[in-house]
Amino acid sequence: MNKNSFLNLNRIEFIVTYRCSGKCRHCSVAPKLNRGGQSHLSADKAVQAVETLSRIFPISSVMTFGGEPLLYPDVVCAVHRKAAERGIPTRQLITNGYFSKDSKTVRRTAESLAEAGLTQLLLSVDAFHQETIPLDAVHHFARCAIAAGIPSKLHPAWVVSQSHRNPYNEKTREILSAFGDLNLPVSSGNNIVLEGNAREYLEAYYERQPLDLSVKCGTMPYSAPLTDVSSLSIAPNGDVLVCGFVIGNLYTGDIAEIVSRYDPRASEGMRAVLEGGVAALLSYAKCRGIALDPSSYWSVCEICHTLAEQLAGG
Ligand code: SF4
Repeated sequence: MNKNSFLNLNRIEFIVTYRCSGKCRHCSVAPKLNRGGQSHLSADKAVQAVETLSRIFPISSVMTFGGEPLLYPDVVCAVHRKAAERGIPTRQLITNGYFSKDSKTVRRTAESLAEAGLTQLLLSVDAFHQETIPLDAVHHFARCAIAAGIPSKLHPAWVVSQSHRNPYNEKTREILSAFGDLNLPVSSGNNIVLEGNAREYLEAYYERQPLDLSVKCGTMPYSAPLTDVSSLSIAPNGDVLVCGFVIGNLYTGDIAEIVSRYDPRASEGMRAVLEGGVAALLSYAKCRGIALDPSSYWSVCEICHTLAEQLAGG
């Protein structure tokens, strides 16, 4: 198989759906949730992507999340079953744990996830999720996951950081203690960035820093240079994304071809970022009639994602 020199993939992320059972005040993808369009990624397409990409690249990690991915448990299980079959060692799911009111369905879903070979369940529990998601239901799912033998962790989101003092973090600590009887480890570092709903509701807790619009991809947290990409995301509509840029679609193209023809220099938007950072992308977008005021944004990545989406017509 032809291996692309700009892609050194070791991770695939599947955004299984933008449907959700929650309505969280910190949700970074809130503007995309529960709208029309394709409800979820097809299991067949997702499985094909895992199969093909793991034959081309040394994929070591597959993650499923959403929205609430367990609204479509068959897709989640199919992805992790295939990842296990292909020997991919890290197979993770992020869930809010609330996808059915029927306790038997919840138990059976946990058993199916265990059979599919999930290696880590990250359960989102905190002040934000539990504003709309009943704690008892999530506690029941956590018990089922433990009984099924799935290695599980509580995965709270923190305003600014875990040590920052604010009412949300206090409430999150209370909620975590309600899971204390389960003796689950708690993840760290899931600090909320001001995107989506968080930008609207949590701004008061953050200090605005001046943005360096010429900064290079790879120097900001959770980013990598567009010429040395280690992770691909796949959206519910089949879009294949390098960071915020769509490089193909699973429903209209072949994933092997999509990755073999990837060249960030061939896309005007990506080329602008490569040559002059987000400052150059802003100028390019302006030429295309898309104006955006960078002073109202909190990170260069958020500016880049917004522009990439608008340039793609989203
Ligand atoms: S944060 Fe997660 S659970 Fe909450 S609304 Fe967003 S996608 Fe749903």
